[in-house]
Amino acid sequence: MAATSLQELFVEELRDAYDGEKRLTKALPKMAKASGSEELRAAFTNHLRETEGQIKRLEQVFRTIGEPARGKKCDGLMGIIEEGKHAIEELDGSVLDAALIAGAQRAEHYEIAAYGTLAYFAEMLGNDKAKDLLGQTLDEEKAADEKLSTIAKSSVNREALMAAGTEDEQEPMTRSSRGSGARRMASTGSRGNRSRAMASDRSRSTRGRR
Ligand code: FE
Ligand code: ZN
Ligand code: FE
Repeated sequence: MAATSLQELFVEELRDAYDGEKRLTKALPKMAKASGSEELRAAFTNHLRETEGQIKRLEQVFRTIGEPARGKKCDGLMGIIEEGKHAIEELDGSVLDAALIAGAQRAEHYEIAAYGTLAYFAEMLGNDKAKDLLGQTLDEEKAADEKLSTIAKSSVNREALMAAGTEDEQEPMTRSSRGSGARRMASTGSRGNRSRAMASDRSRSTRGRR
């Protein structure tokens, strides 16, 4: 059904956001599990909890307009989540962490745009309760995005840079072992094993479909 009024468009956009948040509650645990950085894992786990609260808030917003809480496939977040899945399949160690952050920040920016619009629509429609609820989620999404920037700058991107050997000023030995896995293991510790084990699991189950 195509929206013919701002009120109808508001409902359509709410459904899109509701579906997107539900998809994220499934994706975030996988992203946390794939993270090598303790800090990053904690950030994803924490945002999972926030996301569950955001779903509750959307249900409250639906209630303010007497509409059932229902989702409608959010193609945008589906695509972003799909890209994250590919990163988990293909990457490893601190480079994977950097890619997880890049994907998660895409998701946050998408949500920031969505909730900014939704809060503004609520204001236009004179729905103060909805405006307040959507504004709270908007603030959470912005904080989540900033947290990810902080983590990227503090350690993850630096480690990923080291893993690529871009600034390789170390003994010649590390130069020759670059990319072989030995160096990556040294810099990422035991999680290299785990990510690789996960990757080979996945290659059995999903590679054939791609
Ligand atoms: Fe969200
Ligand atoms: Zn969407
Ligand atoms: Fe979010």
